[in-house]
Amino acid sequence: MSGDEISFVTLPQSGDHRQPFPKPHIEAFETPLRTDMALDYLEKAGALDGVDRLDAMEATLEDALHVHSAYLVDAVSIMSDLGSGFLGEASYASPDLLLSSLFALGGALEASKQVVSGDARHAFALVRPPGHHASTSNPGGLCYFNNVAIAVKQALSKKHINRVSILDFDNHFGNGTAEIFYTDASVQCLSIHEYNYESFGIGHYEEVGHGEGRGTNINIPLLESSHDDSYNSAMENIVKPAIQSFEPDLIAVSAGYDPHFADPVGNMDVDSRTFWMIGKSIQELVSKLGVKGSFWVLEGGYNLFTLGPSIHGSLEGLRGNSKPSLWDQVDRHVHEELLSDNLEIIEKVLETISRSL
Ligand SMILES: [Zn+2]
Repeated sequence: MSGDEISFVTLPQSGDHRQPFPKPHIEAFETPLRTDMALDYLEKAGALDGVDRLDAMEATLEDALHVHSAYLVDAVSIMSDLGSGFLGEASYASPDLLLSSLFALGGALEASKQVVSGDARHAFALVRPPGHHASTSNPGGLCYFNNVAIAVKQALSKKHINRVSILDFDNHFGNGTAEIFYTDASVQCLSIHEYNYESFGIGHYEEVGHGEGRGTNINIPLLESSHDDSYNSAMENIVKPAIQSFEPDLIAVSAGYDPHFADPVGNMDVDSRTFWMIGKSIQELVSKLGVKGSFWVLEGGYNLFTLGPSIHGSLEGLRGNSKPSLWDQVDRHVHEELLSDNLEIIEKVLETISRSL
């Protein structure tokens, strides 16, 4: 088995960890229904026809320790035993927290392994809870173990994988992943996210990496309500050339689908056409640059109905297929002013990149 095959990794059990909020609050949306309903949609839509299906295996605490401090790993374990309470901002414990987290991590590790071993060109792990906000020692934002970061570290332990690019397109800044690799010259972190220029926060484009890692952290902070066109420009002008010049052996994708216009948590304005475009861009980069392949791990995406078509779009892109027509694609007003403001931001990101090299 080799070539352009796609492996698709799912949770053997959805994992009963859920955030204990009865009201429609951000935490209430991170439930097993996310992966269950997305999988149901993908199967019925034929989006998984021809892919190699695999079950995630339970990872171990030692796997998590490849990236996280013993304190964080112990805290997740102890809080899971206690069965309730909170570990950090928007990160709550439940009796199933540890088991759910280890299966999510196991799914990411399997996806990475599929590509590194040559069994598949691309792999997608439909897992939860997400991971990209978890830093070395802190859980946060619904995340406990940084699934993508741990899978990248594992991949880098293989002889032929020396450099990895991570693209994070979740609505929110992948702060955990950026922190973990901030001084690491072998990992390039690119994050496209919503940013508030009136009330500054982390995720600014001036965060470029430190020491040997200088120049390897690239933040693309776009304005709220950014449309498909802005994402297109970010990919064409920044992400594609940056990955091309970094020359990675492997591409990892933190696949967050909360920039969808119908998402209850994110505030961007895209649909499955953008997620197809990102999949197609990664597929083209992999073919053009001779990269081993790409592995994708689910991050955000909280609209239970649009998560399926969003992932469907990405899979069609990864197959190299033309843009699919999916039910979530509705015409929305394009704000020309917003696009031109984002183009100015993209210019500033490019200037910052050239200064940091
Ligand atoms: Zn998010």
